[in-house]
Amino acid sequence: MRGTCKGAVWSGEKDIRVMDVKLPECKDDGMIIKVNAASICGTDLHVFKSKPSVPTILGHEVCGTIVEMGKNANKTIKCYTGALKIGDRINLYPWITCGTCKSCLRFGVGACGVCENSFVYGLPYECLGMSGKPVMSSSVEETPYIKGGFSEYMYILPGTYVWQVPEEMPASVASLLDPMAVAMRAIELAQRSPGMLEDVLNCNGTALVIGDGQIGALIAACLRKLGVNKILIAGGRDERLKVAQDISKADCTMNYHKQSLEERIEIVNAYTNGFGADVVFQCVGNAQAFREGIELMRSVGTMIEVGNIASVAPIQFDPARDLCSKHATYIGMSVNTPSAFNKAFHMLLSYKELGLEKLLTDRCTLDTLLDTMLNSNAPSYIKGWVDLGE
Ligand SMILES: [Zn+2]
Ligand SMILES: [Zn+2]
Repeated sequence: MRGTCKGAVWSGEKDIRVMDVKLPECKDDGMIIKVNAASICGTDLHVFKSKPSVPTILGHEVCGTIVEMGKNANKTIKCYTGALKIGDRINLYPWITCGTCKSCLRFGVGACGVCENSFVYGLPYECLGMSGKPVMSSSVEETPYIKGGFSEYMYILPGTYVWQVPEEMPASVASLLDPMAVAMRAIELAQRSPGMLEDVLNCNGTALVIGDGQIGALIAACLRKLGVNKILIAGGRDERLKVAQDISKADCTMNYHKQSLEERIEIVNAYTNGFGADVVFQCVGNAQAFREGIELMRSVGTMIEVGNIASVAPIQFDPARDLCSKHATYIGMSVNTPSAFNKAFHMLLSYKELGLEKLLTDRCTLDTLLDTMLNSNAPSYIKGWVDLGE
């Protein structure tokens, strides 16, 4: 025990309290960072409406400065960019996997959501609805206490993958690594061998992104950078559509509150010689949006489902019409990998060119975090972030 720091603790339904939390000793295989910025994830906004199983410091999208390092930390913490030292700013992959369970052996070390003995920063494992069990409680009452980003300091455990953040990159931008990696993984899933019949993601392809939130906007921006021919975005709020178009230079945006499905089919057809989109990235948490993706996707198309991560109402699906005769590929996504994060890290380096700071709409402090989370339905909200200073 060596004093306390301020942490925002999820303590009940829509209840986050700033309190003094214990600071742990830094072990030989760990590190402690001073958090500079921590972004609010869509998952945080979803889970905080329920009651936590244990009091937890939320926040897994983090950029912080190393203030203490165990003597073996450079061996136990996996840094993609070089040897770590005190004073370095880092961002991180929020999952730690065991490396020895049957799923790690099957899928490779680091694949999150499949390891049977893993840990995720800033979320009680139980609320993720995944198999396996956590190797450590997320409780703020159990050592090393500071296991989430909405806190002045955070403990970095052995087995964590990290990246050194360039000096000129704002900490808030660096904290976008996690959503950028979701975007990167969705794109990886749509990539096929060049020349293959089902190869949809190329300089000849038209991509439709359904959703104007942070993930949809980041996918669109990455697609532009990767050279996809045409990018169309459908969303529900004009302010967010404008930002998504700004950072992706999308060819067209559609507001599904203003344009009917028939009108949107017409628009997509106009961009695709009447065929529909080659690839659809569905990023809205709404079953109907998946159904619309089917309608707006061409034959021999691919749809990546990113948005419906929480259970929603069933939809109509005709295997003959929607799958076989369309020769369609539907891919769901929830597992990610450190290597997708590494690609995302390199994509983040283009933050100025892409204008990624436009996504960071709602800056707050630990004290105003709860208000920001409660107001995340505001028309202009894309992403909230906690500014914890340099
Ligand atoms: Zn996240
Ligand atoms: Zn494992």
